[in-house]
Amino acid sequence: MNLLINFVYVISAALFIFGLKMLGSPATARRGNQLSALGMFIAIVVTLLSAGLDYKWIILGVLLGSAVGVYAAFKVQMTEMPEMVALFNGFGGLASLLLAWSEYHQQIETSLFIAIVTFLSALIGGVTFSGSMVAFGKLSGKITQKPVLFKGQHMVNGAILAAVLLAALLFCLSPGSGFGYFLFILIVLVALGFGVTSTIPIGGADMPVVIALLNSYSGLAACAAGFVISNKLLIVAGALVGASGIILTNIMCKAMNRSLANVLFSGFGSGAAAKSGDAAAQGEVRPASAEDVYYMLESADSVVFVPGYGLAVAQAQHVVRELGELLEKNDTEVSYAIHPVAGRMPGHMNVLLAEANVPYDQLIEMDDINPRMDSVDVCVVIGANDVVNPAALNDASSPIYGMPIIETHRARTVIVLKRSMNPGFAGIENALFFNDNTRMYFGDAKESIQALVAQFKSS
Ligand code: NDP
Repeated sequence: MNLLINFVYVISAALFIFGLKMLGSPATARRGNQLSALGMFIAIVVTLLSAGLDYKWIILGVLLGSAVGVYAAFKVQMTEMPEMVALFNGFGGLASLLLAWSEYHQQIETSLFIAIVTFLSALIGGVTFSGSMVAFGKLSGKITQKPVLFKGQHMVNGAILAAVLLAALLFCLSPGSGFGYFLFILIVLVALGFGVTSTIPIGGADMPVVIALLNSYSGLAACAAGFVISNKLLIVAGALVGASGIILTNIMCKAMNRSLANVLFSGFGSGAAAKSGDAAAQGEVRPASAEDVYYMLESADSVVFVPGYGLAVAQAQHVVRELGELLEKNDTEVSYAIHPVAGRMPGHMNVLLAEANVPYDQLIEMDDINPRMDSVDVCVVIGANDVVNPAALNDASSPIYGMPIIETHRARTVIVLKRSMNPGFAGIENALFFNDNTRMYFGDAKESIQALVAQFKSS
């Protein structure tokens, strides 16, 4: 029996790994997701059948969980996905904490190794849960998005961490004593507190990076929980989540040209940083009407769309695809330039454009489009701001200095679609909007593009 279970676990683990690999490309991502879900389904069924549990509670849990999941999947908007992922991570962490607690409660006399993994599961699970709840609160605007900073904050966090490590040492040395149980509860409480105190100093703007990091933590907590209950698949799945979460965190930090330490400890978005760089943007703004933009597009040989967060807000992906098709019929070469941190989560633009069936071969990565930018006739910036801000290249005082951008300012003409002159995520002005070759086409991105589509259709 054990052999069969392990065999099925190996198949599940292989499905996870192939699924993860397929997530690397928009063309295969959907099937990759389904493959990993199949792996998890097989693993759950085999574990339940082999464990001899009281199924009525399990079935009740599955029904309740599935109902909430299905409701959320239909109701949550794409722009709310980071909040949703924060909740997923948080509940994953809570599950690991509760599992460690329940196992410890049932078997207080335990070995040093099990005591260590029990502590790790509770600590990392607790930090993940409360940290994710703060991240959710910040992203959804239920608590202040501003970094909550006070004097000596890093010292306080350091002291909390030192206290929890001391409690862990004492706990691991004698988990079976009555004092051991007291220490365990203390560790749980301090872990929950530490999740809050280490996340509140980070601005709402940096929450997506924090969520990727918490995703990694939730994997590590699950991995430790796997050791607690000697479940090999939980160890493998937890390690995969832990590793992929930290790789994603690293990719996001690199794309913003910031270190993880800077994201976690600098209080980015607290106001001081947001103000610098404003001086870069001055001059005259040249607004354009739908008709002006239509003529510019109609006579262009090559058009590059540069989508950003505003595309997601306006849900303009379908009309953009329609406009792209009309341009192609007009013998214009069309492509979409993708910045790795455009939007509010990794792959945000890829997901939106894939949903609208934009052909994958038209999606061009930043590093591939920039060398061709000088020969592009028209760049249409759709609700993007920071990822096309030249201050990142030429203003050393700007908070985004050093972040790689899509260099739209080098195109012959730039058309920017946004509703106002308001800044984007980093809170700074954008000199691109004042350039001689830039025209501002104000309005909601979807309505603006619909007007262009109507112009093309009526011509
Ligand atoms: P920005 O947040 O810089 O700009 C978005 C712009 O969209 C705004 O200037 C806004 O202007 C405009 N906009 C909003 N709603 C609409 C609408 N309905 N119609 C038209 N325009 C609209 O977005 P970017 O994508 O350029 O940059 C992403 C930022 O997020 C970067 O700073 C990045 O570092 C950060 N980030 C990204 C993460 C990721 O994983 N993708 C993670 C963490 C941070 P207006 O209000 O005038 O319309």
